Amino acid sequence: MLIKRSATQTLVSSPSVLNFMSSHFALRDIFNDCCVVAIPTKTDFRGINIREAFLFRGPQGWSEFAPFIEYNAAESARWLEAAIEGAYKPWPELKRKSIPINATLPRIPADQVAKFLNNYPGCTTIKMKVNDFESDADRLEAVLDFLPDAKVRLDVNAGWSLSQARQYLHDYFMRFGHLFEYIEQPCESLEDLATLKSEVPMKIAVDESIRKFIGSDFSSLSEIADVAILKWAPSGGIAATHKLISEIGLPTVISSAIDTGIGISHGLALAASLDSLEYACGLGTTALLVEDIALPLMRPIAGVMDVVRGEPNPEALAKYQASAERTQWWENRVTEIWNTELREEVKGWVS
Ligand SMILES: [Mg+2]
Repeated sequence: MLIKRSATQTLVSSPSVLNFMSSHFALRDIFNDCCVVAIPTKTDFRGINIREAFLFRGPQGWSEFAPFIEYNAAESARWLEAAIEGAYKPWPELKRKSIPINATLPRIPADQVAKFLNNYPGCTTIKMKVNDFESDADRLEAVLDFLPDAKVRLDVNAGWSLSQARQYLHDYFMRFGHLFEYIEQPCESLEDLATLKSEVPMKIAVDESIRKFIGSDFSSLSEIADVAILKWAPSGGIAATHKLISEIGLPTVISSAIDTGIGISHGLALAASLDSLEYACGLGTTALLVEDIALPLMRPIAGVMDVVRGEPNPEALAKYQASAERTQWWENRVTEIWNTELREEVKGWVS
């Protein structure tokens, strides 16, 4: 009996076991006040028709963990770091109370453009997802019919080869001239982007070149591009994004990843915390969901969104609550990332 007790005392007082126990209790804290939502999207947006998100509340308020389903644990870890920061760390000093917003236009038929753009009242910058010139030029005409003075961004999601980019951007320029604010990630490789930047009259923005290579040396990116697109969750949260911005040294656009209004509110705080903000931000994307679950509603009014913390609307939560099976899947995902990928420093934020 005596031996048993002393063995137990030795066990519980060893640093590694204490670390394990505190980590275990911290993880339980995340599951204390959480839910999973599954919200249909209005259109097929990057192959997604249902957006799932794990929402949880910490001492600072609600936060959101929603890496896309196919992302592995290593890639999703930064999303969890952002989510934990959002729930457990206070927002930094905010330099502005509202954020100018761009409309985000998915690949929908041209005759539906005007109706969709009504989701973004007062927004004069339009970001369009595009495949090429032939199938998207009419959609751009529809944008200009709706909003003749629009500033337009084309987002290619790294979908063009260098020769396609040369051809399509030539075609766009010949038809629409200096309409474009920038072209977002026309090609995948940095070499192609650098070549393109030296040849075309449009500015080049990088999104995937940053998001898929976090941890790389970004010091030469300012020679390859004009604008950096950064997102709260994939970048690892507000503090991590500030660090990235200072490494990259380019004007920044804060965008989103089809977040619910909970994640969007953290994106707004990120945009509000930047020293300078030259461009409208892509944070009006709850318009892509059939309905959002956050209050207040995270939508632009007169082209801007106020910076406020979002809270789940109980009625919407009940309506879009995920199945028990999907909820368990998300809890397993959080647990796996916590146990295998999450930095100890981040675990220490949870108490
Ligand atoms: Mg993009």
